[in-house]
Amino acid sequence: MAEERKALVSLSDEELIAVIAELGQSPFRAKQIRQWLLKGALFSEMTNLPKDLREVLAEKYTELSLSREYEMREEDTDTTKFLMRTADDIIIESVGLIYDGKLTVCVSTQAGCAMGCSFCSSTVGGLIRNLTSSEMLSQLILASRITGLAVSNIVLMGSGEPLNNYENVKEFLLYIMRKDTLNIGIRHITLSTCGIVPGIDRMREDALFVNLSLSLHCAVGDIRVQLMPVEKKYHLEDAFSACMRFRQASGRRITLEYCVVEGLNDTEQCARALKDLMRGTDSEVNLIDYNKKEGYRALNSRTAADRFSAMLTKYGIDHTLRRRLGSSINAACGQLKSTYVKDRQDLK
Ligand code: SF4
Repeated sequence: MAEERKALVSLSDEELIAVIAELGQSPFRAKQIRQWLLKGALFSEMTNLPKDLREVLAEKYTELSLSREYEMREEDTDTTKFLMRTADDIIIESVGLIYDGKLTVCVSTQAGCAMGCSFCSSTVGGLIRNLTSSEMLSQLILASRITGLAVSNIVLMGSGEPLNNYENVKEFLLYIMRKDTLNIGIRHITLSTCGIVPGIDRMREDALFVNLSLSLHCAVGDIRVQLMPVEKKYHLEDAFSACMRFRQASGRRITLEYCVVEGLNDTEQCARALKDLMRGTDSEVNLIDYNKKEGYRALNSRTAADRFSAMLTKYGIDHTLRRRLGSSINAACGQLKSTYVKDRQDLK
């Protein structure tokens, strides 16, 4: 059986230099190759490398850790959903949003997810595995190559709970912030968590001061637990307190994500509980208008989100109602992938 080729982009700087040295080339070639890889170039397009080096590399390696599988673009909102394939045939999804000519990429950090949120398709088959930092990087590189735009912002809001894959996520973030790689500023990175308290504390201790967003979805524990089983382990008050410690250390305002589910978390009681939780803080709420989809267990309507928004205004709660993006291309977490892999035995 042919030996599986390793992705060159997954090598550290030192490993890449060692590979190049073994091929009898000087270290500056490693730098050239890294720059090409970050641009999403194929080996055949790395024109400032000797032809025989390109050929040897193509024989032994792949460029990226993921390959392009499928894309769907929604013209009105300039949103593209990407499906990408790992070396072990798992389908990963990312979303690219173009706004004002700038590309924001929503990155997946795990294949599947163990957290079981009731409104999310990514968790239906459970966790498959953590993604490596180079698989996260490859999502950015492919999205950039396909759209023809450099990545301006990233949001870790795709499939998976990023803080359950802490080391790989941290390695990825530290890498893309480097000036000699993608040079993405820390203020252009947002990480969303369902409230993994030790993970939030680790980010604070590591001074990983990206924009932090807490998937709250309800400030009443008994109701939240119906949407998010994580509430049983990390109560919302504890998760919020960890966010406030992060806020204190980072100086960064915390965002609370809130998917309005009609008849469940859109009541006066919920609005009041939210007000109590946020009292004395400068947090803001992002009300999310979810895509309706058959099989989605929690459906809501624009009307419910609008009504709840009016309630929050009445209580003086700082919030925004997110405009609908990607509804026709299944842009919500996990939806396109689940449709795509259904009935395919060769894909996970
Ligand atoms: S919303 Fe996020 S944490 Fe919850 S199941 Fe989906 S991917 Fe996992």
